[in-house]
Parts: sequence; structure tokens; C-alpha cells
Amino acid sequence: MSRVRCSRCKKENAGLAEAPLPNELGRRVFEQTCAACWQEWVGQQLMLMNEHRLDPLNDEHSKFLDDEMVKFLNLD
Ligand SMILES: [Zn+2]
Repeated sequence: MSRVRCSRCKKENAGLAEAPLPNELGRRVFEQTCAACWQEWVGQQLMLMNEHRLDPLNDEHSKFLDDEMVKFLNLD
């Protein structure tokens, strides 16, 4: 597994095996996020989805989650 300089925890850590999303955002996550911080986001995302009753298939909700993810992971 490759290592990344993670923009959330600021450490050099084990990265993800592959981009978690099949788009440009997924590529940024892959390049800038360690596997541990990604797991943290997965938990956080579930909380947000429950709290706001979000549907990831809804475009507006999906955009909201993308924005939250960029902030959470501190992506460039
Ligand atoms: Zn990290």
C-alpha cells in the first residue's frame, strides 16, 4: 500500500488502495487522504446522513456531502 502525506492529520500515513469515488474529487481524496482519516469521514458521513436525513442519490444532498467531505478532509 502506498503512503500519502495526509491533509487532515498532517502525517505521512498508509493511503487508500484506490480512489473512493470515480471522479475528480475521488482522485483528490486518494492523493491527499490517509486510510485512517478516510474511515473517520465514513463514520462522520453516516452521522450527517442520519442527522439531516440525506439521500446520497439526491443531487443536492450529494453536493452537500461533497462540500462537507472537502472541509472534513481539508482537501486542496
Ligand atoms: Zn490522515
